[in-house]
Amino acid sequence: MRDRLEVARELLGRSRHTAVFSGAGLSAESGVSTFRDPAPDALWSRFDPTELASVEGFSVNPQRVIEWYNWRRARLAGVQPNAAHRALANQPGLIQITQNVDSLLEQAGVAAERVLHLHGSIQRDRCHNPSCGHAEPVDFAAPQPLRACPRCGDYLRPAVVWFGEPLPRQTWLRAEDLCRNLDCLLVVGTSATVYPAAGLIELARAHGSRIVVVDPAAGAAGAQADIHLDAAAGEVLPALIAGLDLRSPG
Ligand SMILES: [Zn+2]
Repeated sequence: MRDRLEVARELLGRSRHTAVFSGAGLSAESGVSTFRDPAPDALWSRFDPTELASVEGFSVNPQRVIEWYNWRRARLAGVQPNAAHRALANQPGLIQITQNVDSLLEQAGVAAERVLHLHGSIQRDRCHNPSCGHAEPVDFAAPQPLRACPRCGDYLRPAVVWFGEPLPRQTWLRAEDLCRNLDCLLVVGTSATVYPAAGLIELARAHGSRIVVVDPAAGAAGAQADIHLDAAAGEVLPALIAGLDLRSPG
């Protein structure tokens, strides 16, 4: 492990064009659970994720979907960035591609325009009518109940990507463009099983990037890694990147 850490650190130190691609494992040490974990609360464990995070589920019971997101928001209100978020925030030249809908990278100090949220943000609500365009921030300490869009009267909903929905187009195009122009992609805390996001690792590889994976599980991302550090992000990232000057192209 120690040898691999040093090899990975050398590889990153030589990389002129680097980016980060993160998933749930980055925030797990902060205590953020996702709906792909076994539900930690009996109230919600009886629902299938697709009942709580899909257009169909929202059509059937919008009240229930909003209550679930507000329960998650109330939990997130007390959550702090961990050592991995802070290590990444100490690299202001990096662009962070993330599947996480939390804002812990931004809370750790990463500039909002340096974070590409492929699956949207739980920090905002938007109009369910895609042609309306209304969006507004949400106060985690006092999340709002189900309510109508002030502009068009349709429902407001979390500005996250649900099962079966496309990824935000401009964000996705930026992420793809980035992954075609890397010397090294640092993959943190994702098993890379959720497509199309997971395809970014293959894209980067196909365009000559080396892949460094930090994830305790030997998932699909590990199989594509040049170097796989099988440990938690908060344990490895500070030692892996502290003191380096990592930069993304553009
Ligand atoms: Zn609207």
